[in-house]
Amino acid sequence: SSFCRIACICAADLVIERNTACKPKPDPSTLVFGKQFSDHMLTINWSEKGGWEAPQIKPFQNLSLHPASSALHYSIELFEGMKAFRGVDNHVRLFRPMLNMERMHRSADRSCLPLFDKDELLECIRKLVEVDQEWVPSSQDTSLYIRPTFIGIEPSLGVSRAGHAMIFVIIGPVGPYFATGSFNPVSLLADPSFVRAWQGGVGAYKMGGNYGPTIAVQNEAVKRGCQQVLWLYGEQEEITEVGTMNLFIYWTNDKGERELFTPPLDGMILPGVTRQSLLDLARTWGEFKVTERTMSMKELLGALDAGRVLEVFGAGTACVVCPVGSLLYRGKTYQIPTMQNGPDLAKRFHKELTDIQYGRKPSEWAPLV
Ligand code: PMP
Repeated sequence: SSFCRIACICAADLVIERNTACKPKPDPSTLVFGKQFSDHMLTINWSEKGGWEAPQIKPFQNLSLHPASSALHYSIELFEGMKAFRGVDNHVRLFRPMLNMERMHRSADRSCLPLFDKDELLECIRKLVEVDQEWVPSSQDTSLYIRPTFIGIEPSLGVSRAGHAMIFVIIGPVGPYFATGSFNPVSLLADPSFVRAWQGGVGAYKMGGNYGPTIAVQNEAVKRGCQQVLWLYGEQEEITEVGTMNLFIYWTNDKGERELFTPPLDGMILPGVTRQSLLDLARTWGEFKVTERTMSMKELLGALDAGRVLEVFGAGTACVVCPVGSLLYRGKTYQIPTMQNGPDLAKRFHKELTDIQYGRKPSEWAPLV
């Protein structure tokens, strides 16, 4: 209906302008995250008056923005991070893409950006990946990173809801996170003077404004000889997330039970697609207790001291799982025996998810492009 054409993104209206000057594909061994982009991009414009315009796939190009655009002044910006994988059967698959669309929709709502039909946006993204399918690399553990982005482009300095907005999606090949076959454990800086998100804040949304301020903290971690930040919160120094990953601990709890623990979705934690997938898998297996609750630094250090911690790992789209080897807290380094314990569970999760992503194991989680 004509109402829907205005109110909704309409994938059937997609206009495709093919790039006539396609670039050579980079050598997969030289891939650096986020530096190489494909030949096409998707843009969808919206205005208060006209609603959603026809989506466009066109040659990858610069944007032209009014300098008062609200994204540039007030961070009216949000994004997603997802991947497409070339399977062992040469077919290209996404991984639980609707979870990214749902998270993007929640971020848009919290940003006062216009809402959109998640299925229609996903269909436009699917089409973009199809147009650039040759950009989905085929070597071991490589993938095509997909970056949906939503910006307010209201050409006005008033701090108010954007009357003009744009979704754009850029994609590019990315290499393996770990050098072939080997899981490298990371060291973490846990310093309660740095806070990523807080109760009542926007940590649960994937807004650019949550990420820019973390760079200085990440640099501080590196300066102190650590690789990533363990984000703590509040007087109890609750453990929340690791860098841009969700945090998991596999341990023997104080009742003597084997348990997989992760912090709860209390508004401060980004609801990761990988996090959800690990919880779903572990609950399906039913082999150990699975718990979402808060845990203080004190409780973690006590369990480490008692030898009850088996594995600590981050979970995210970039690496699936990333083992944690040590923790620097108030000037003292605590060793974590993740690698000494296999890490059996982290490896099992990694295999299970990558088997699905690369089509080695059929799953509803990995729809074909
Ligand atoms: N936490 C934060 C802060 C993140 O930025 C990300 C990456 N999106 C994650 C966790 C992991 O989320 P996902 O599994 O969806 O990549």
